[in-house]
Amino acid sequence: MSLPKCPKCSSEYVYEDGNLLVCPECAYEFSANDLDEQERIIKDANGNVLSDGDTVSVIKDLRLLLKTSG
Ligand SMILES: [Zn+2]
Repeated sequence: MSLPKCPKCSSEYVYEDGNLLVCPECAYEFSANDLDEQERIIKDANGNVLSDGDTVSVIKDLRLLLKTSG
């Protein structure tokens, strides 16, 4: 299993429910796509030295790309 931990309480017992991931410990529901998107943005922000304005535009571009491709 390669499910992520709950972003809210760090529980390891997250399970899949359709397209959602559900944490049985705090009942938090989230989507794997959201986590993936966050990871990409963090890696991108860390991998490139950008000014604040540039970081914002990169994040906006990523969101647009993900939305149009999904
Ligand atoms: Zn949880």
